Formats: sequence, structure tokens, C-alpha cells
Amino acid sequence: MIVISIRDNIFKIRENIDKLCLATGRKNDVRIVAVTKYVPVDRIHECLKYGINDIGESKVQELLKKRDCINPKPNYHFIGHLQTNKVKYIYDKVDLIQSLDRIDLANELEKRASIADITINLLIQINISKESTKSGIFENEVFEFIESLQNHKHLQIQGLMTIGSNTDDKAIIRSDFRKMYNLSEKIKSKHYERVNMDILSMGMTNDYSIAIEEGSNMVRIGTGIFGEREKMEG
Ligand SMILES: *Cc1c(COP(=O)(O)O)cnc(C)c1O
Repeated sequence: MIVISIRDNIFKIRENIDKLCLATGRKNDVRIVAVTKYVPVDRIHECLKYGINDIGESKVQELLKKRDCINPKPNYHFIGHLQTNKVKYIYDKVDLIQSLDRIDLANELEKRASIADITINLLIQINISKESTKSGIFENEVFEFIESLQNHKHLQIQGLMTIGSNTDDKAIIRSDFRKMYNLSEKIKSKHYERVNMDILSMGMTNDYSIAIEEGSNMVRIGTGIFGEREKMEG
């Protein structure tokens, strides 16, 4: 049996991020989102002990079930595909929805937020690699998408999110991440209302080092912290 030390994993990742930031001459402003899909509550509590304050879940039911058992509550990030009919269950329970990928979803979020009189924080998910299996807005369509959110007064866009290419070719992964950084700078320069580009969420267990070198300030790490895990029900 392999014993996984969540503590050691977190410390190693932190150390690596420090090194990467130093090497690229930037200050370390990288937030680690611990991705806890399929991870049981006791292991989540363990990672919170070691200074993790951001938790990412990708399934609505799983998020709700586990969130109830976690106190005090860390920041919750929703990182999976969000069905419009499930918005009502989570819109007021998460701090950041990282997967805004279509106007239907924006409309439903705006409706709920306006009734509750709250602001919902979002990242626009970009399908930078244009893989057909991925959701997300294409790079060349993002400006039009943002402009279509003009009347969504209860939505605040905090940045962009992407999932790196599903390839072993590091050059492709790097080039996609670089495109993301440039895109976020371009959006920033437009000074849209209720849109800032404070967050660039890219990098997972296998590609977070490249992502940080290319300007990511939010990495989403599951396997690297909790090890490989089996899918669980719900
Ligand atoms: C599962 C998942 C991650 C974490 O992936 P690991 O390879 O386990 O680090 C990050 N982002 C999203 C959107 C995910 O679904």
C-alpha cells in the first residue's frame, strides 16, 4: 500500500511554486485550489490543516453533500460543467464559479443573483486548444461573449480559466497557456464594466509548472495533493 502524505504533497507543491516564481522574477501570488472531487471529507479536513483555503469541486451533488460537513468553510470553487437546471442549488454557496462557458448559463445565474440581490463571481472558461471534448468559449469569440453580458448587472467576471491540452507535448501546452495570458491582457485593456482579469486559473497536477511560468496565478491540483483516487458515488 502506498501511503500518501497530504502534508508532504502540499509542502512540496508550495516549495516548487516558490522556486518557479523566483526563477521567473515574479512575486508569488499563486493560489492553490485543492481539487477534492472523489476525495472524502476527512482528507479534505486534513488538507485544510496545512493552510489550503480554496477547495474545488466539479459535481453539484458531491459539492453539496461534502460542504455541509466541512467547518469552518474554506472558499468554494465550482470547476466543472454546470448544468443550467442545477444553478439554483449552488449559486449562493460558492465563492467562484470557474466554468462560465455559455450565455444560457449567464442568464440563469443573473436571474438567481438578481432575485437574491447578490453578486456572483465568475471566471470565463476558455477552450484554448479547441478540443471537441472540452467546453469553453473559443478565444476569438470571447469579446462578443463579454459584450453580451452587458445587462448582467449581478455578475462579476474575475478572470479566465482553462484546462490545458490533453497531450504530452509540452510545447503545445506552453503555447496554449501563453495564448491565455495574452488574451487576458487584451481583455483587461478594454476596461469592460464588471470585468477584471485578476485571476488566471490554469495548471493542474501535470502542467501547473508550465502554467505558472506562463503567468497563471491560480492552479487547480487534485492528484498532486490527494494521490490517485477512485470515483465515489454521488
Ligand atoms: C479534476 C480537475 C482538476 C485537477 O486535476 P488533477 O490532474 O487531479 O490535478 C483541475 N481542474 C479541473 C477542471 C478538473 O476537473
